[in-house]
Amino acid sequence: MVCLNHPDVNAVAKCAACGKPLCAECVMIFDNQKYCSEACHLKGLASQLRAENVIGKKKSTDRKSGAKKFFTFVIIIIIAAGAAYFYSKNKKAIDQRASAGIETIKVRAGQAVEDGKKAVPTNSKYKQHRENLVNEK
Ligand SMILES: [Zn+2]
Ligand SMILES: [Zn+2]
Repeated sequence: MVCLNHPDVNAVAKCAACGKPLCAECVMIFDNQKYCSEACHLKGLASQLRAENVIGKKKSTDRKSGAKKFFTFVIIIIIAAGAAYFYSKNKKAIDQRASAGIETIKVRAGQAVEDGKKAVPTNSKYKQHRENLVNEK
């Protein structure tokens, strides 16, 4: 491979932007990168910046979603801690209310059973009728 500008001189490098073969005399070094021209240096710089932008954006979104997850986690912890605190602060009241609720249910259930018993007359017509039949025999 020979230099693009000097067909009789062997190329020692390639332009980092356009890939042109370059001899030692033609190589231009910018930021430790070899270029054929200032224009290619700028082109290379632009593509490098674009790549860094993409990487940077990806990193920042990763960080954002990580922060979001952490934030959600913190919220859950706060809510749980708040609930635990509220419960410990009002434990008696809540327990009382809960047991009162259970008592109410028990009382109502008992009443329902009583009501059910009352609803079925112990001396129903049919029973009496049956008993009469038995007595007649
Ligand atoms: Zn170039
Ligand atoms: Zn050259």
